[in-house]
Amino acid sequence: MTLVGVVGAGVMGAGVAQNLAQAGHDVALVDNTPQAVTKALSTIELNSRMSRLLGGPELDPDTILGRIKAGTDLALLADADLVIENITENWELKRGLYLEMDHTVQPDAVFVANTSAIPITRLASLTTRPRQFVGVHFMNPVPMKPAVELIPGHHTSPEALEKVRDLLTSMGKKAIPVNDACGFVSNRVLMLTVNEAAFLVHEGVADAETVDEVFRSCFGHPMGPLQTADLIGVDTILYSIEVLHEHFADSKYRPCPLLKQMTDAGLHGRKSGQGFYSYGAPAASSAAVDSGGSRPTAATR
Ligand code: NAD
Repeated sequence: MTLVGVVGAGVMGAGVAQNLAQAGHDVALVDNTPQAVTKALSTIELNSRMSRLLGGPELDPDTILGRIKAGTDLALLADADLVIENITENWELKRGLYLEMDHTVQPDAVFVANTSAIPITRLASLTTRPRQFVGVHFMNPVPMKPAVELIPGHHTSPEALEKVRDLLTSMGKKAIPVNDACGFVSNRVLMLTVNEAAFLVHEGVADAETVDEVFRSCFGHPMGPLQTADLIGVDTILYSIEVLHEHFADSKYRPCPLLKQMTDAGLHGRKSGQGFYSYGAPAASSAAVDSGGSRPTAATR
């Protein structure tokens, strides 16, 4: 692999770019917001510096950053062999990007969609290269998670799938193949759980800390569903459950109003500094995973 494009430099894009650079790949990282690019680079710098402390390998931040060329211009992706898309979970935004990337990126390149719920075949249909289109559902924080869901679309060629498998292997990921369906395997279950946990807080059955405590202490989960929501991004949870709701037209996926209100209020979780819990300043590091935030926010107590 000579050059891997990464588009979207938020929580996932920053993690994917870091993981690729750790594996020795050259990376072109693009976001349409300059602030997101700056934040991603400082997150990668900090996470590389802290890697050993967090149980990862010893990393030299200068070497990692030296492999990443970052900016806001899609032209940076033009010569990439493979582009991993990680932009906001929104059909219209993804649609606009794929239509543009299909012209900008060299025709032989493989597109990889990192999405929480949108079917891969639907995204591939936006391009003239559905045979070179693969879904990979990365887990967060990307450099620390050992496995991904690997999702071929209806037209995906064996060669494209093999190319993506090889890349994932180089990144230290085990690829678990699943069929193409809205939400795949993980988020059909996880999004319902998080949405229902938000309903418990919304209805005053329990506060966020209590909900999470039940999952940690009774089920032995390392993190509760609302700590997980803060890690993923409360906005991303909302957009994902909206995708599931629209796709299945099933009321079991109706989004909890509290998720909508928190998204509107900018309480997006770790990345904004506040979600179901308060984190002080906006989290610079997606790798700073521990047992959750320090205290519940006023909105969720
Ligand atoms: P995020 O909100 O942290 O980042 C999204 C980034 O996309 C932002 O920086 C935004 O500026 C950028 N963006 C939006 N439109 C763009 C465009 N047209 N061109 C370039 N950049 C654009 O979101 P995230 O959590 O990183 O999620 C990214 C994708 O990965 C989503 O589809 C999400 O569902 C999926 N995902 C998220 C997680 C998670 O835990 N957060 C896990 C797996 C998959």
